[in-house]
Amino acid sequence: MQDSIKKQANSLITKYNTNNPFELADYLGFITIITPLDNNISGISQNLKKNIVIYVNSELDYYKKLIVAAHGLGHAILHKETDTIFLEYTNICLQNKYEREADSFAIELLLYNKQSYKYKENVINKTSAKERLNLSMLNFKFPHSY
Ligand SMILES: [Zn+2]
Repeated sequence: MQDSIKKQANSLITKYNTNNPFELADYLGFITIITPLDNNISGISQNLKKNIVIYVNSELDYYKKLIVAAHGLGHAILHKETDTIFLEYTNICLQNKYEREADSFAIELLLYNKQSYKYKENVINKTSAKERLNLSMLNFKFPHSY
């Protein structure tokens, strides 16, 4: 699954020549809305029928907005058929399959070209410490087969 997610992220980046989730959502006809949301919610990914909307909390800083948008894009691409609204909480790390897959997609997208997963892990940890971001969304265990 991890390989397939990586391939999907990489093929989008190659096709549209960007790894910016907002630009990619635009190209793919998904709507992204940056708007004030409840403090506990970093984003909402709406996958209803073909009506895909990614809401991002406008209170987040730039980098976190990218993460939330990339995660939402992951739901939009990987979980088209689920007909679900995903609420992305700021402080709760949901460990279900869909959330892990969306996180995985976000990592592949945002850290494109960073080849080794150790490097990716480092970037995430350092960024987290430096920016004091709550990266619970990216608190994702890289599989050994990666
Ligand atoms: Zn999610």
